[in-house]
Amino acid sequence: MSTAETTFKPGTYKTDLKPVWCPGCGDFGVLNALYRAFAKMQLEPWNTVVLSGIGCSSRLPGYVATYGFNSVHGRALTLATGVKVARPELTVVAVGGDGDGMAIGGNHFMHACRRNLDVTYILMDNEIYGLTKGQTAPTTPTGDKTKSSYWGNPEPAVDPVELAIATGATFVARGFSGDMKTLTEIIQRAIEHHGFAFVNVLSPCVTWRGESQYGILKEKLQKLPEDHDPTDRAAAMRYTREKDVVTEGVLYEVQEPSFVDRLAHIRMMAQAEGPKPTTRDILKTFMPSF
Ligand code: SF4
Repeated sequence: MSTAETTFKPGTYKTDLKPVWCPGCGDFGVLNALYRAFAKMQLEPWNTVVLSGIGCSSRLPGYVATYGFNSVHGRALTLATGVKVARPELTVVAVGGDGDGMAIGGNHFMHACRRNLDVTYILMDNEIYGLTKGQTAPTTPTGDKTKSSYWGNPEPAVDPVELAIATGATFVARGFSGDMKTLTEIIQRAIEHHGFAFVNVLSPCVTWRGESQYGILKEKLQKLPEDHDPTDRAAAMRYTREKDVVTEGVLYEVQEPSFVDRLAHIRMMAQAEGPKPTTRDILKTFMPSF
């Protein structure tokens, strides 16, 4: 798998590890769409990194034959920041669930969006904590009964798509794990995007939210109108907080310098300034008497 002539197929990216997800879990659809998108783009496994936090969906890097790391809760994007800044030439994809990304990882999400970090972040959103046995998550709709909200969830839910647009992501899309074709296209576009690309995938947890989730979502699913302008922020916002419908597609996409571009510019300016400051020079800026 190391010659320039090698053709990568979806199966190229499979590892020997068999997914331990429950039969029917939506995360299978996301994994397969990711294999297909990687193959369509002919991504070299040795130049690709898949990172995650903790949760059912965060097991995904173990099933992908690229570099990868299943890290700690909510920290997929912190790892992605380090990898991308140190090795900008790599394709970096962060993945995880809504509990991981919107609760403990919410802070990192916000800052990855505003920095326009040049990575793709795929959120497998099942509106619940699956691995820890079905508690209410930040994306659980108000009023839904879960293992931790017997009388119904008293909290308003966060819409990750709305949050991404509001905090500065330059590519924001919504997909459904039951629509593999569209999801593969969306993931490919997200990886091709220069800047922070966020894909919120509705990925049913059949164990804690019930098998009816597929049917419910399929019934609500609609495509973006053909005349939708993805550079129009206000227009994209109209497809957030949806209740009766679920709109899939690329809702928002604009081109701006990425975090890596800005860092490269700073590095260039610093190098053009001449000799590097010594440690003493730097300490003096904090303590002039040094
Ligand atoms: Fe998927 Fe839910 Fe099972 Fe976790 S508990 S593997 S999210 S179906």
